Amino acid sequence: MAKDLVRESQIEKPSNSSSVLEAANIDFSYENGYKVFEDINLSLNRNEFVAIVGPSGIGKSTLLRILGGFLKPDKGSVYLMGKKINRPTPDIVLIHQSIVTFPWMTALENVMVSLKAKHIPNDKAEEMAKEALETVGLQGFEDLYPKEMSGGMRQRVAIARALAADPLVFLMDEPFAHLDELTAEGLRQDIYNILFSPDTPLKGVVLVSHNLTEVIELADVIYILNNVPATVVGKVQVDLPRPRSPRSEAFNRLLDSLYNYLTPPKVKKP
Ligand code: ADP
Repeated sequence: MAKDLVRESQIEKPSNSSSVLEAANIDFSYENGYKVFEDINLSLNRNEFVAIVGPSGIGKSTLLRILGGFLKPDKGSVYLMGKKINRPTPDIVLIHQSIVTFPWMTALENVMVSLKAKHIPNDKAEEMAKEALETVGLQGFEDLYPKEMSGGMRQRVAIARALAADPLVFLMDEPFAHLDELTAEGLRQDIYNILFSPDTPLKGVVLVSHNLTEVIELADVIYILNNVPATVVGKVQVDLPRPRSPRSEAFNRLLDSLYNYLTPPKVKKP
């Protein structure tokens, strides 16, 4: 215990106060000894959309869980608004790959779940849930059950539920992976506007995706992970004007340069 405290104080460093979320000097190994990260640094600034890409199995989901306080790094720290976090907080919401809606609840009730968990009284919770559904474009669909909705609508309900909890940061792990391409495209076009609308308190989003087109469409900054243990091998600022067309020349130049970074690591795992 005392040893841990000493170790913690040695690695403490002042956080970059302009960041909403910051990971500083992160090392992480799983319990089986597999070292996933060495000295990862990542910074999410206000109103920024950050994406993390890298070969499959490199550690993208693991990094997202560290950023959310769900996994504790061996070394380094995560700061939310300059304050070190050691555990999950309601200010950071993680949206998983699978669409989680409760089939026996209507859209409205599905969104109200997160508000009831915060002990918000029923009538206030209903009002807030309706607002969240309106934000994601589901006004008028409050009474539908998940089986009556398309995959895209169910994903919107999941996003509304996360938004209703008033988080500061959204962590999204392949949120469009289970949708058909047309639905995903429609939702992607809306998502940036939804997440950064003045109606939401969100200050930033971190997205993990294997879909480089999706990443270039959405992100302000792209972090590229590679090697074993993984490090940040590239950080790309995407300055293309929005909405971004995958058919434009600049878009495709960026796509090509990202592919070049993403050859799988040569080092074999133990
Ligand atoms: P990605 O999201 O980039 O596909 P992950 O973060 O899921 O990668 O996994 C990173 C590496 O850690 C992989 O090699 C995976 O097999 C390994 N891993 C993931 N979870 C565990 C665990 N609980 N215990 C041991 N190794 C794990």
